[in-house]
Amino acid sequence: MARYTGPVCKLCRREGDKLFLKGERCYTDKCPVVRRNYPPGQHGQGRKKSSEYGVQLRAKQRARRYYGVLEGQFRHYFEIADRQPGVTGENLLRILESRLDNVVYRLGWATSRPEARQLVRHGHYEVNGRRVNIPSYRVKAGDVITINKNSRDSEKFKAIIEASGRPVPQWLDVDKNILQAKVISLPNRDQIDLNVEETLIVELYSK
Ligand code: SF4
Repeated sequence: MARYTGPVCKLCRREGDKLFLKGERCYTDKCPVVRRNYPPGQHGQGRKKSSEYGVQLRAKQRARRYYGVLEGQFRHYFEIADRQPGVTGENLLRILESRLDNVVYRLGWATSRPEARQLVRHGHYEVNGRRVNIPSYRVKAGDVITINKNSRDSEKFKAIIEASGRPVPQWLDVDKNILQAKVISLPNRDQIDLNVEETLIVELYSK
């Protein structure tokens, strides 16, 4: 399965925002967005004005990079969102939020989405009692997610869970004692803390 393998901090600097792609480092003052908050490259500090297209493109790239989704798959999600009833932009974000790699990150069972993706690929999580190793697997309301038994007892997972201080969103109900979570419902827009105007993405793809 294809994924971006280049330097991730450059992506954050390009978007001018923290995308939280490196786990613990993102919360320290070593974060390059804190130290050099301008786009990377020779002309990074010179770029100022953006066209309407440029603004729409940045919104789309930011969302895509935040969730670690390549262009083809992102466009596919948009097409699904567009066919669903309701507001297309919100549908799109809901689809992205429902990816299994995002959900385990939201639960604090991985330090970043790239790590969540890798841990899912390695089969550390179960959905409704069955091991799922597809990061793009989309959870539904009522699904129960757990860390599989062997992984749960490993030092790595103990350290990840102990270090996680991020609040779990309201649409997920987690029992921290048995490391089990239930999807209460898929999130509304106000339950998704993504600093992106999704209407710009819709405008971009609707041209
Ligand atoms: Fe982005 Fe984290 Fe790198 Fe900061 S440390 S630039 S938030 S990936």
